[in-house]
Parts: sequence; C-alpha cells; structure tokens
Amino acid sequence: MEEKENKGHPDQNKDETDYEKICYMCRRPESKAGSMIVMPGDMCMCHDCMQKAFDSIMGGKMDFSKIDFSKLSGMPLMNMNFVPVSNGEDIPQMQIPKRQQIKKKKKKEGPGFELKDIPAPHVIKSQLDGYVIGQERAKKVISVAVYNHYKRVYAESKRQENENSNEVQIEKSNILMIGPTGSGKTYLVKTLAHLLDMPLAIADATSLTEAGYIGDDIESVISKLLAAAGNDVERAEHGIIFIDEIDKIAKKRETNVRDVSGESVQQELLKLLEGSRVEVPVGSNQKNALTPLTTVNTDHILFICGGAFPDLEKIIQERLKKTSSMGFGAELKGSQEEEGDGLSQVTNKDLRDFGMIPEFLGRLPVTVTLEKLSKELLVKILKEPKNAILKQYVKLLEMDEVKLVFEDEALEWIAGEALKRETGARALRAILEEYMLDIMYEIPKDPNIGAVEVTQAYLEKKGGPLICMRG
Ligand code: ADP
Repeated sequence: MEEKENKGHPDQNKDETDYEKICYMCRRPESKAGSMIVMPGDMCMCHDCMQKAFDSIMGGKMDFSKIDFSKLSGMPLMNMNFVPVSNGEDIPQMQIPKRQQIKKKKKKEGPGFELKDIPAPHVIKSQLDGYVIGQERAKKVISVAVYNHYKRVYAESKRQENENSNEVQIEKSNILMIGPTGSGKTYLVKTLAHLLDMPLAIADATSLTEAGYIGDDIESVISKLLAAAGNDVERAEHGIIFIDEIDKIAKKRETNVRDVSGESVQQELLKLLEGSRVEVPVGSNQKNALTPLTTVNTDHILFICGGAFPDLEKIIQERLKKTSSMGFGAELKGSQEEEGDGLSQVTNKDLRDFGMIPEFLGRLPVTVTLEKLSKELLVKILKEPKNAILKQYVKLLEMDEVKLVFEDEALEWIAGEALKRETGARALRAILEEYMLDIMYEIPKDPNIGAVEVTQAYLEKKGGPLICMRG
C-alpha cells in the first residue's frame, strides 16, 4: 500500500479508472457532477462549471459544447491545490493529492458479502478472547451486536434489490459502552475492527463542536472513516466509528452560556447515528473550496460510543437508595452496595440524569458496561493476550539471545502498583517501561549473559535482577 503511494499518481500506474475525476472548479467528483471535460494537462471540468465560465465571458451567447478542447493547450495553472507534474511534454499534468482522490463506486449487486461470511457471535467472541482479558459480558454483547448489525446490512441490501418494502425492517443497533478508563473500551473496538477487517475511525467527542464554532464539525468523523477505508466510499459505508469520551458532551448543568460542545453536539450526532446521507470533505476535516466533497450514507455504519461517565455510579446508587428506602426493597440495599459493580445496573434514566439527551440515548439501543480491572485480571493482561506486554519484552531480548523471565510475585507487584495509579491497564506499560529500562540498557553490554529474571526485590529496589551466564 505504502509502496503504491510512493509511486505517485494512479494515472502513471495506469489504474486511473479506480479513481473519480474531480472538477477543477467546484471540486465535485464525477459521481456527483456528471461526466467531465478533460482538457490538456489532465485538467477536468464539469459541464456546469464550463457553462458558467462561458456565460460569464460571453454573456450566455456561446455554447461550450461546440468547442474542441483538444486544440487548447497551456491552460494557466490556478493555485487550487493541484500538484503540477511535468511529464516531459510542454503541458504540465495536474494531479489531485492522493489523500483527496475518491475511489470509484463499483457496479455490484448486494452488500458485497454473503451471509455465511459473517462470523457467528461465538466465533467473534472466541477471537476477541485471544486479545481482551476479562470483560466477558461486554465481549458477548458486542459479538451479538456486530453479528446482528451485519445481518441487518445484508437483509437491507437484499430488500432494496428485490424492492420488497413489505419485509421486516431490522433497526440499527448502535452501541453505548460505559467503563472506567483503561478498562479496554478502545482496545476492544480496535481488536474487533482488526479481526473483522473493517475500516475503523476513532474520534474524540471532546474535539467536536457545533457547526460554525472552533473545533471539528461532526462530519469530520466520517471523513476519518473515509480515510481509513482508503477513500473507498462503499467500504467506509460498512465501517465502524468509535466516538470516545462521549460523557464529555453531556448537557452542562447550571450554565447560561451557549453550550456548543455539549448538548448541541449530541443534537448534531443524532442524524449520523440514525443514518443519513452526509456530505463530507475528502482528505481533510474541514469543508472549504479546495477540498472535494463526497456523499457518505451512514445507514450501515456501526457507531460505538464510549465513555468513563465519572459520577454515574453515584447517580445509580442514589436511585437504588431511593427505591430501597420505599419499603419492599429495603433489604436489597446492603447487597447492592457490597457488589461494588454499580455500573452494570445503569438505566436510561441514570444516563439522562447524567446529562445525555433522550433522543441521543434512543439511538444507542445497546448499552454495555465494562468492569474495573481487578489485580488478577491485570496480571493476566500482562502475560496472556496474543500481543501481551511481557511477550513483547521477551521477544526483544530473544533477539539478543537472552531469556527473560518474570517471577510470579513480581507480576503481582506490578499489578498492585497499577491499581494504585487508577488508570486501569494503561498503567501496566508505564510501570514496565520504568523498570525494564535499566535491564534493556545493561544486558546487551555483556554477551555472556544468557538469562535474566525480574524479581519482586528488584522492583522494590531492594536488589538487582537475577542474572544467569551462558554455558
Ligand atoms: P479505555 O477503556 O480508556 O479506552 P484502552 O482500551 O485504551 O482503555 O486501554 C489501554 C490499554 O490497556 C490497551 O491498549 C490495552 O493494551 C490494555 N488493556 C486494557 N484493557 C484490557 C483488557 N481487558 N485486556 C487486555 N488488554 C487491555
């Protein structure tokens, strides 16, 4: 892929048919503006712009379609983000930057995949198990939601093909993911997209603002997905969008200023979540005269919104307390508090009390909660996933032909330290980096070292790691 990009313009690679021509003036692709007039230097112009140009010069007295453009040469280069490339002839070629080129839609029928190609939920979950530790319920809910989502995409395209509007229409099942930071929300979605080979865009809700204000417009999220799909609109339309920090766009309480990054962002997200046709800039996150625009249908895009929702647990506890103090529930109160996993009892009302608007919640019908990672799970995260951090260090030292081992107590100690930092599994890497630095620095110095064992004493700074010499 990278290599192909470096080779330059697709025209030079003779695969120009894969990409759409874009009007030099209005920046619309040919799928929107119709066929293009190609002028010397590969400059394209749509019929509308051409006619407008002639109208303004000739006062509408001339029909441009009677002109033979192949006789024109040396059109002046306007500075419109085209890159002139000399191909050895007099006329410079004009290219659109690679990131702004739009893949042509292929004329094919159906959703582009068969029902049997969609992995069953238990298959998706068992694949996720290889990477994501714990969070059993979240993995199960997501596997089913994703499976249903792709069945829906399939059924919907078959329905359109047969023009059978009487069939049952399956509704979109976007997901709301709630869990403390570092519990694996982003990691779960990333792994899912990787396993399913789907384009994925990760956006941060904190950078989004109402259209017209400083910050990213809502459409920038779709632009990112389009870029992840290699500007292939069809591929993007079946992709996944993860919007992180969704709790940061909760309605602001007690404020008189205009809430351009909170409630209004929720309002604007509604249309995306529901499924609509959005005009998005290609290769940029801002609409302006220099970026081509294309239309993306968000109907079949799976939206997953994630957030830590601090204080949500308090809201849940308050509600539970209220219901339990009303008589029959009184005895239950104690047991719920002991459970400690308050988030899993979240209801729509709690989220509304937190500041999410009902319409927004209505478009995220699947709610999944992730639990806070315990010490045991953190130890497992250190060593069990397919790309576990420990495995990465072992591999690094293996290249120096040195065996790296960790004492069980040392792993417990690292997990305990990570718990104190309260950033979930994210702290694990930071701690390991800290303590592995000296080992990674010193070991390659002495070629006689054959094995190193990281001990609890070393981590507690009471001694050094155990070192075994070769032979
Ligand atoms: P957040 O919930 O804040 O989005 P992340 O998904 O970004 O957290 O997690 C940070 C890192 O911690 C991930 O890159 C991953 O390596 C690790 N991690 C977190 N949770 C898990 C888990 N359940 N299993 C394996 N690794 C995890």
